[in-house]
Amino acid sequence: MPTMTATTTLGTGLLERIGNTPLVRLDELTLDMPGVQILGKAEWANPGGSVKDRAASAIVGDAMRRGVLGRRADGSVQGLLDATSGNTGIAYAMLGAALGFPVTLCMPSNVSQERKKYLAAYGAEIVWTNPADGSDGAIRKAREMVAAEPERYFYADQYSNENNWKSHYHTTANEIWKQTEGQITHFVAGLGTSGTFMGTTRRLKELNPEIECISMQPDSAFNGLEGLKHMATAIVPKIYDPALADANIDLETERAYKMCLRLARKSGLLVGVSAGGAVAAALEIAEREYKAGREAVVVTILCDSAEKYMSERFWQEG
Ligand code: PMP
Repeated sequence: MPTMTATTTLGTGLLERIGNTPLVRLDELTLDMPGVQILGKAEWANPGGSVKDRAASAIVGDAMRRGVLGRRADGSVQGLLDATSGNTGIAYAMLGAALGFPVTLCMPSNVSQERKKYLAAYGAEIVWTNPADGSDGAIRKAREMVAAEPERYFYADQYSNENNWKSHYHTTANEIWKQTEGQITHFVAGLGTSGTFMGTTRRLKELNPEIECISMQPDSAFNGLEGLKHMATAIVPKIYDPALADANIDLETERAYKMCLRLARKSGLLVGVSAGGAVAAALEIAEREYKAGREAVVVTILCDSAEKYMSERFWQEG
């Protein structure tokens, strides 16, 4: 056999391409703020197109190692079930297709057409829930289904699964530390399950307790920041510990939209809405530091690209 550099899509080839995403300098935002930098982790570079590949692959890997997901010794197959508004579902669906287990997802029926198409393309089964009940309704439905058929499903439960935040503790944080050569001063991330913020913050604080870690959430339950939660009005994820944040920014949807447009038109970057929100929050921190006369390296997470949000009307504004 000749030696080939090609990798297999079965398992390791795909898993190896998760993480080690580029850190992008968002210099346009800080042109008039010498000494202050904003950097964004380009998570759309993951094979499933979002930051959630990290959590999903850690959850799936752990379950397969424990023998509670995939093919059993008797030849039967245990599938994966979870509630997800989109990106985690896409990551599970991708992994299920590559590793050979069925994926069933509960989600509100008002998720974007683009997301539905991705999930259908990967062959995942979707159980639709009432949009009026939001992501909490999807969580309740998933719990019901697992209780009714515990043999059939591995309940991934991203809101409670410790492997969610651990994936960021072991990968995202160390990558940021290395990519900034330890110069990061501030970390900003949006809260959905809170896995990204919890895991990255825990590890960064170990590496340097002086790093200020700021969470961002939508300012209300009814918002356009898909993937994020307003914690006061939602089922609070078990993995969420608000005490870990040095500060929290409540962000208006409009500010996220405006930042998406600015990044598109001034930096040539098409990012998703939660990424726009994270950058808006990062800019708020950068401006505060600049005004206080301090140098700063503010790092945030660009969870996904604009690809799945192109039907949103705000792109035509401005
Ligand atoms: N942004 C987007 C677009 C997401 O899909 C998610 C995941 N729900 C988040 C942000 C939040 O990430 P986490 O679940 O790690 O808090």
